[in-house]
Amino acid sequence: MSPIKKKLIIGNWKMNLTVHEASIFVHTLSQSIAVHRDVEVVLAPTLLALQPISLQIDRRQFKLAAQNFYWRDQGAFTGEVSAAQLRGLVEYALVGHSERRHVFHEHDKDIRSKVQAAVRNGIRPVLCIGETAHERSSGETADVLHDQLLGGLANVTSEELGQVVIAYEPVWAIGTGNNATPDDVKKAVRAIRRQIEHLYGQKAANEIRVLYGGSVTPESAATYLATDGIDGLLVGGASLSGPSFTAIVGLAHHEGEAA
Ligand code: PEP
Repeated sequence: MSPIKKKLIIGNWKMNLTVHEASIFVHTLSQSIAVHRDVEVVLAPTLLALQPISLQIDRRQFKLAAQNFYWRDQGAFTGEVSAAQLRGLVEYALVGHSERRHVFHEHDKDIRSKVQAAVRNGIRPVLCIGETAHERSSGETADVLHDQLLGGLANVTSEELGQVVIAYEPVWAIGTGNNATPDDVKKAVRAIRRQIEHLYGQKAANEIRVLYGGSVTPESAATYLATDGIDGLLVGGASLSGPSFTAIVGLAHHEGEAA
């Protein structure tokens, strides 16, 4: 059985809200989301808003995540931002999000380099993995998770693994309103932890944080939060609504109290 950990709720705002709108939204959230010792709330706004929001937030209430970055630390890479440049600004960074894999054609090689760059720069990578609808219907979910974990975590040492968070995000559930069933999630999390155990041992498998993401709403959040082996949620669409995101954080707090 997994040890009790703080629930981690990450709001991925994707390419939404201007810097000004993001700042107003953070202000709104700061009024509605209470600080709970058993819940860590992380906001992933547009890269442009990270700096101003970092000056605006109380880090006991919110931490920040980058939605993306480049894996080299510096150099002639026009238009890119590195983990070295994000160091100190963000605590987390999404890596391997399905939109990066499928829209921008990032492969395991890029993803593993990003995981390493994050760890090297003291940023916790949130490694997103998940199968497509086709892979699911072909019964390949466990193989996909296996390959994406192996690909993303290559060269990550046992010590560095402590910084890594895994997000199980079935591609067919992201932004579609199609929820994974608790049974789907339970099976996937079991496969993930088994793979971590195989690579890093039982203790690491118990300790690593595993999130679920994919069309989470206040109506579905409690079920996922209560699913064995799930330590939190990666929320896209619903994180752009103050009332919805506040409700999801509140549910995570109640789940923590119930555990
Ligand atoms: C996401 O962006 O990681 C995500 C899970 O989005 P949504 O909640 O909108 O499906």
